[in-house]
Amino acid sequence: MAELKSVNGKILLVNLTSGEITVDEPEAAFYRKYLGGGAVGAYYILKTMPAKADPLGPDNVITFCPGILTGGAFSGASRFSVNAKSPLTGCIGDSQCGGNFGPALKWAGFDAVVVTGKAPAPVYLWIHDGEAEIRDASAVWGLFTGDTRKAIAKELGDDKIRMACIGPAGERLVSFANVSGDGSDYAGRTGMGAVMGSKNLKAVVAKGDKKPEYADPETVKEIARRGAENFKTSGFPQMLKEFGTSAGTEFLSGLGCFPTRNCSRGSFEQVKGLSGETMKKTIGHGSQACFGCVVRCRQIASASEPYEIDPEYGAPEYETIGMLGGNLEIGDIAAVARANMLCNAYGMDTINTGAAIAWLIECHENGLAPAAKTKGLDLRFGNPDVMLQLVEMIGERRGIGDLLARGLEACVAAFGSRSAEYAVHVKNNAIPAHLPQVKKSQALAYAVNPFGADHMSTEHDGIIMKIGAAARGLGLDAERGIADLDREKVRMVVYTQYYYSLLDALSLCMFCWGPGALFSYGDLVQMINAATGWDMTFWELMKAGERRVNMMRAFNAREGVDSQYDRLPERVFKPMPGPGAGLGAHVPREAFQDAVKTYYRMMNWDDYTGTPGPEKLCELGLDWISAV
Ligand code: SF4
Repeated sequence: MAELKSVNGKILLVNLTSGEITVDEPEAAFYRKYLGGGAVGAYYILKTMPAKADPLGPDNVITFCPGILTGGAFSGASRFSVNAKSPLTGCIGDSQCGGNFGPALKWAGFDAVVVTGKAPAPVYLWIHDGEAEIRDASAVWGLFTGDTRKAIAKELGDDKIRMACIGPAGERLVSFANVSGDGSDYAGRTGMGAVMGSKNLKAVVAKGDKKPEYADPETVKEIARRGAENFKTSGFPQMLKEFGTSAGTEFLSGLGCFPTRNCSRGSFEQVKGLSGETMKKTIGHGSQACFGCVVRCRQIASASEPYEIDPEYGAPEYETIGMLGGNLEIGDIAAVARANMLCNAYGMDTINTGAAIAWLIECHENGLAPAAKTKGLDLRFGNPDVMLQLVEMIGERRGIGDLLARGLEACVAAFGSRSAEYAVHVKNNAIPAHLPQVKKSQALAYAVNPFGADHMSTEHDGIIMKIGAAARGLGLDAERGIADLDREKVRMVVYTQYYYSLLDALSLCMFCWGPGALFSYGDLVQMINAATGWDMTFWELMKAGERRVNMMRAFNAREGVDSQYDRLPERVFKPMPGPGAGLGAHVPREAFQDAVKTYYRMMNWDDYTGTPGPEKLCELGLDWISAV
């Protein structure tokens, strides 16, 4: 076997039903083909999970995967992917998390963890120095995410441990429960926390000191230095350092694509109260970095009144400000930060939480919410108290919170089809805080993404509104406006989806390695080759990104999810009433339908089902999928 660099050559396989722990030792060719992250996750899920498995049953498979570069001492190499069949969407589940757990897992001697089965009682997995053991978690079951970290660190007598854990929402199988990295970072989307909860798996804990060895360490250092140097003169990453992702709040509201009043409007009159500047001035408490990153974009909030905000849980990101702020017409950043803290402590996705609460309020306004189910709740937009009440009720599955915890499709089934108008989601995954009525690239991307609406799966329209090096490097040379939804826009979605998928396979942060960020496309190729000793080309890497998208899509096809689920909520086809730049903006239905068809053809997928056929799978070296 060729000598492996930058990876351990070991993947940990854990069967929680039998308690058996084994190690897979893939060949170098496996790493070169799949790289890591969501691609390795999808590989093991496709190979191991029986078709049509219950997402909350023991047959589901959950994977925790850093990438081949994770754990290196350079910016943006700290992430890991969590994948499983999603209890929220029924599709492949996929979510990424920054912080420190990804590097800790690599340093502990493993490139990924694959968990099957179900433990008879709560457990956590303790991985250290090339070994792993299953330990009793009954003492930490029921704890919030931050408290879980502290309690396990105390039990192990080591404050340097890192973990991926769940809170009470995951234990109670909230369909959009997240996975927390150390109680302060989150793999937020697609309900991966509920899958952990269904397996009685409270946490995966890691520690080690096996730093990656490189084929060409000097070049790795040189590229790392280049990225740090570029940061000093960068535009967007410098803004991230100052304000985190909240830097975009006022700008996006000005553009008309900030979710307001359950995504029915795109500009929020009270947006100033939610801006990055306001947050920094009023409740800001500094910032922190993921492992090895110069950007240090993760903001911290702290306050004791009127809302208590524990700095342990960070400050709200832009998506949270959008979905729990503007979307509920709440203009008080402290209230949003409190809701963010509660979501993080319970361990649940803020995007789906905000969408579920907005749905309930709009149902109530329109006489669709049965009074008996909403008794005692002052349901109206602009009411922070009811938002905070409902966040806790969802986390505890109490009262109406139990229904909201099941996801928007279950909500509509309970309240009747008229309430579907207020359920703003794709594949039961709530649309994030970049309204597709305005950003037309996201109209297509949300619809066709294998795990439902997601804003981090492609570039947004800006990359081709003015062609620069970031666009040209991906072969995009035709300028288009934000409102265009033609073939060039589809091509932009396809190419940037490959690139973002590549970054997710590598578990690299988009803010450092995305188009036009700290590192160039050339830096990426050079870094991979210097780290591994391979001779990869950018073409080969882009094919790896394409491969991951196709694996996810093939998984969905096997589970019975095809083109009929690639649709947008009705709300986005209606012109928005304003105020602001979003006035009249909507997704033109015919152009959208054409874009979806064009997208399938550009992807070489079946026109009718929207899935990759045997020839496409063969072209990507995925023929084996036809047999699983
Ligand atoms: S840019 Fe921010 S999110 Fe990305 S690795 Fe750096 S600190 Fe983490």
